[in-house]
Amino acid sequence: TSTSIPSKMRAVQIMKQGGLDVLEDREAEVPKPGPNDVLLKVNKAGVNFIDTYQRSGLYKIEKFPYTLGQEAAGKVVAVGDAQKGKGLEVGDRAITYFGGGFAEYVSVPRARITKLPDAVNDTDAVASCVQGLTAWTLVRETYPVKKGDWVLVHAAAGGVGLLLCQMAKHLGAHVIGTTSSEEKAEEAKKNGAEHMINYAKENTVERVHQITNGNGVQAIFDGVGKDTWEDDFKMIARKGTIATFGNASGAVEPFAPLKLAAKNVKVARPTLVNYVYTQEEYEKTYAELFDLIAKGIVKFKIHGEYDLSAQGIRQAQEDITSRKTSGKLIVNVA
Ligand code: NDP
Repeated sequence: TSTSIPSKMRAVQIMKQGGLDVLEDREAEVPKPGPNDVLLKVNKAGVNFIDTYQRSGLYKIEKFPYTLGQEAAGKVVAVGDAQKGKGLEVGDRAITYFGGGFAEYVSVPRARITKLPDAVNDTDAVASCVQGLTAWTLVRETYPVKKGDWVLVHAAAGGVGLLLCQMAKHLGAHVIGTTSSEEKAEEAKKNGAEHMINYAKENTVERVHQITNGNGVQAIFDGVGKDTWEDDFKMIARKGTIATFGNASGAVEPFAPLKLAAKNVKVARPTLVNYVYTQEEYEKTYAELFDLIAKGIVKFKIHGEYDLSAQGIRQAQEDITSRKTSGKLIVNVA
């Protein structure tokens, strides 16, 4: 099965953390899968805001060279000995959430790769992965959204944001979203947001109070971080949950627990990996997501496609950090 696998491959890697210029085109060894690993020939990979933290140093990387890219879809070309005959075979199409996606091949633990249904193409698979799994675990586990809830989604037209709008609406909530442009506001509305606030022109806190008759919202899904954190406490309802899950504007500063007492607020700071850590968790969450896709409840908006090259990834990172994008950024690998 391994005769057609080359020994070298193209990859976009970093040798240190820093500005966009640390992204390099490099030739790397094709990894050898261990007994519990699967080797995937990558067709499509996905860009996430997280890549920019890993490149800049906000999230520390310990070992170099480091291959960026949190997710990849393609074909299984080798299965480790201990995992043979356990549901994933050479030739299967599969999606992995692991790391090392900006390369022609990636070796990943069996626990973090799952077979793709025929109906989900590789592009949509990539769009469903980090952003889809994150959105779904946020509305099911971090704060289980209930019918009739009012929820606030920051960056509602973003990759995670559009999916949060679709999912929260599907679960019966009224969705209020924030964004920086009219165009993006329209996009979020098409995806399930009932009210959109353009924070470049409007006062978000005032608008949320108008819309909710002064009650505030039961949950806030906040991937913006530093810039929105203090205002979140002015918009959350009594006993509400603030889920701060990202740092698009910078990391949230430390705070005193007493801050929560004013409204008995719960704060969660989840990370996807700890929701889909085991094979069972990964498979179960993906099964639910595939079901939502099959039913047409979850759909993906592809913002644009980029080359597997340092230049392509630089462009993608520039675009996602400059608030120009809405939806998923795809990297063409094959
Ligand atoms: P997005 O497509 O949402 O892009 C980020 C958006 O944030 C921008 O489009 C912009 O939307 C908004 N934004 C607000 N302030 C800033 C700023 N100062 N600089 C740049 N952007 C800003 O990215 P993703 O969908 O990939 O990720 C969204 C968030 O979710 C990120 O914070 C990411 O780290 C987090 N995340 C966390 C995970 C976890 O496990 N905890 C997993 C996946 C993602 P607008 O113009 O509408 O304001």
